[in-house]
Amino acid sequence: MKTPQRLALRGDLLDFTSTPGWAELDSPAVRFRPDHWLLIEDGRITGTQASEPDASWQREDHQGKLILPGFIDTHVHCPQLDVIGSYGTELLDWLNTYTFPAECRYADPAVAKRGAVRFLDALLAHGTTSAVVFPTVHKVSVEALFEAAGERGMRLITGKVLMDRHAPDGLRDDVLQAERDCIDLIDRFHAKERLAYAVTVRFAPTSTPEQLAMAGALCRADASLYMQTHVAENRSEVAWVAELFPTARSYLDVYALEGLLHERAVLAHGIWLDEEDKRQLAASGAQVAFCPSSNLFLGSGLFDWPAARAAGFQVSTASDVGGGTSLSMQRNLLDGYKVQALAGHRLTAWVALHGATRAAAEGLGLSREIGSFDAGTLADVCVWDWARGPVAEARHEVARELHEKVFAWMTLSDERNLVSAFVAGQPRYVRQSIVVPQH
Ligand SMILES: [Zn+2]
Repeated sequence: MKTPQRLALRGDLLDFTSTPGWAELDSPAVRFRPDHWLLIEDGRITGTQASEPDASWQREDHQGKLILPGFIDTHVHCPQLDVIGSYGTELLDWLNTYTFPAECRYADPAVAKRGAVRFLDALLAHGTTSAVVFPTVHKVSVEALFEAAGERGMRLITGKVLMDRHAPDGLRDDVLQAERDCIDLIDRFHAKERLAYAVTVRFAPTSTPEQLAMAGALCRADASLYMQTHVAENRSEVAWVAELFPTARSYLDVYALEGLLHERAVLAHGIWLDEEDKRQLAASGAQVAFCPSSNLFLGSGLFDWPAARAAGFQVSTASDVGGGTSLSMQRNLLDGYKVQALAGHRLTAWVALHGATRAAAEGLGLSREIGSFDAGTLADVCVWDWARGPVAEARHEVARELHEKVFAWMTLSDERNLVSAFVAGQPRYVRQSIVVPQH
């Protein structure tokens, strides 16, 4: 029998065993094991212990550092790294002015490949080891992402963006060609290694009813496919959808009527939903990706997380770059705190970090693979400095309670705190150098 590859990481281990209660500072869902060793065999977590493991283990000592499960970004656009931080527009103008021109360039396979590699290495350098990603309408942009994620061993969910109207030349498909491209991509990439296909409707306005019906048929034909789209992000967008789909009860209902609302669906934003929408979301098992930095930057609105809790649908957290302003999950969680504060709610570090780890994994049906340090999950693990620089260091020193420490970390840290990122037990990012994957 082959000897297993054994790796042990020492540090302060933090993850979640269940969903923390809203506004609960001392939560039984929080699993904090200070100064423990995380044991990894052949890329999987096998356990933890307080004592140093024997010499059969390769030991990496990160004593005094914070070790978390790799973050899961449930909504992010690969080609939009090129337009992050674009000035002065709301959603619909922002798409036309900045985003669509950037996405046109991904028709070129060389641009798509370079973009995919840069994007995934940037995710890893921000401590994000899994993601649900929008590429572009071009088949080559999907191939490039799947191939680059495969080379890095990453959990990646993506699919060709569907849009056959209300988009410029070079960014529209048609129903038949789009269907052929989807089927070919599903055959080649879905459920291979850690890759999965998502039927990817950009948003209701850019697909004809015929194309939405085709997308729904793909989902019905294979229940293992994911679905990703946007919903109820901005008030002008919601009004436009009401004009385009006069027979649907609501924006969300456009998707529900076509069979696109199911337990493997990830809907970004969900700010302008009514009570019936919230009931429908909870009944479907779909999750909403809360994208706070994007919602603030584009002035879209304030997502009501406690209302989502009350309705009973799953919420995960996401960057939505390039509407979002950083791939750093801490930056986005901090913006999430501010969004909730503006609405009179208090977001704990526990609910926020759970949203970027275990909640996302559960929403995707992947909690046996990612999102925690449960034995048997793949070792997607990040090591972080608790504090960097004199201000954060001083704050960390005076923090007494665990929540106080972790909340200060969430508020004051970013990707510069990342020491290393492991994907299935392999180092894929080490500070100041990216480990080039083996071909
Ligand atoms: Zn988006």
